[in-house]
Amino acid sequence: MKDMRNPTGDDVVLAHAEAMHARDLTCKSLGIALEEVEPGRAVLSMQIAEDMVNGHGIGHGGYVFLLADAAFAYACNSHGPVAVAQTAQVTFLQPVRPGDRLAAEAGMAFADLIRAGELDRLRVCAGDDCDAVLVDLTRNRSRIYCDTGNCGNRQHVAAYRARQRGES
Ligand SMILES: [Zn+2]
Repeated sequence: MKDMRNPTGDDVVLAHAEAMHARDLTCKSLGIALEEVEPGRAVLSMQIAEDMVNGHGIGHGGYVFLLADAAFAYACNSHGPVAVAQTAQVTFLQPVRPGDRLAAEAGMAFADLIRAGELDRLRVCAGDDCDAVLVDLTRNRSRIYCDTGNCGNRQHVAAYRARQRGES
């Protein structure tokens, strides 16, 4: 059975992240879950509990920042030498409330592309009505759709339906 936390099937990366997560007492105490990890990318999630609110009754920004920082840490340490953040900035887009489950995705792909001189792997999704930017890390550089909008599936369904209409 495929482990959803390990989309690339890289068992060493997953094992490394799980070992780090097991030692991460902050993540443990806040119930922060390791959702996905692959080289240069990690997704962590956290539920906003009743006692994680500020004086306005909304989720405390410090916890939101902490989740983002943790995702960054797992992405940075998924490969290469041990890394810690020197500086970070978070923009709070909207309030969160007790009961909300937040997911933070962090990727090092862009930094890796610059380092490797492979900015041509950066492209805009080919999906109709989608402007998402994707990083093509495939060996043969064949990726054209983003993950976020399910664009590849939607394009295949649209093409299938067009063929069906043409045949009838
Ligand atoms: Zn897309």
